[in-house]
Amino acid sequence: MRTQKTFLRKAMLLLGLAVLSGVIGCWTQDPSGVERATQLRAAMAKLQPLHAPLPPPAPGDWLAEHREPGQTFDQYLQSDPVRPDDQRRVIYIQLLGEFNDTQRRIVDLTADYMARFFNAPVTTQPDLSLSIIPPHARRTHPSWGMEQILTDHVLHDVLRPRLPDDATVYLALTTSDLWAGKGWNFVYGEASLRQRVGVWSIYRNGDPDAGEEAYLLCLRRTLGAAVHETGHMFGLRHCTTHMCVMAGTNHMAESDSHPLWLCPKCLAKVCWAMRVDPVDRYRKLAEFCQENNLQAERAFFEKSIAVLNGSAQAGR
Ligand SMILES: [Zn+2]
Ligand SMILES: [Zn+2]
Repeated sequence: MRTQKTFLRKAMLLLGLAVLSGVIGCWTQDPSGVERATQLRAAMAKLQPLHAPLPPPAPGDWLAEHREPGQTFDQYLQSDPVRPDDQRRVIYIQLLGEFNDTQRRIVDLTADYMARFFNAPVTTQPDLSLSIIPPHARRTHPSWGMEQILTDHVLHDVLRPRLPDDATVYLALTTSDLWAGKGWNFVYGEASLRQRVGVWSIYRNGDPDAGEEAYLLCLRRTLGAAVHETGHMFGLRHCTTHMCVMAGTNHMAESDSHPLWLCPKCLAKVCWAMRVDPVDRYRKLAEFCQENNLQAERAFFEKSIAVLNGSAQAGR
């Protein structure tokens, strides 16, 4: 009995050491990681009152249909997420399909927004034609009739073999609708948490040539999907606590209700992984929103800067 207890104690100690060394192992790869995490926790607490909690899911919403545990900042740190290093620093965008001039303008703006959002250089690769997708990775939707391509094929057969040496992540943007295989009608996008590849579609983002409002809606939807899928590639799981660009979405109304920004917890993850100061990051995003008529977002980023600088009280 005593032997068993001693054995158990030893086993627990070893397990404890293994967990601890896993955490320390992750942090010591970056000497300032612990300090940065501490600073980010302080920023999270200051920003908290600016952010609305995620309301209980309505029938048909993402969390009504998908049980997800969420991910705390500490869980994120312990997951040893994909992040830039000396060899792999660039976010690559791969266009797949035919894009008109306005869509191309939105792609260029999306690359700019991503660079500011993730504090990383963003490069757009020369276009690939949809003709490279073989018949077994295409279908016509059985009820709706539109052409769709299979996300799994894009991730593993189009992107993985073409992953550039200096790519931290590689994201395809397509004009085709997407589906994720058996059991799915369509998806807006899909990304791998570990394999550094992702795909998202602008098929459902509306016609950006149908007037100023439609243009802004298409821009906002494209920016949101781009940073959401890229966030997954940097190891962020779905946000289950706040109105946040990392919350999962099941339909367009739900998607449109989510903001283009990160909640404090998801912000801490991105700032930690990408080694960026939250105020510098907010400043660059506010500039982008000012230049592109995204006024609600500009006001939110400026308020966040003021709260972090101590020149304004946090409050929604
Ligand atoms: Zn997602
Ligand atoms: Zn979040």
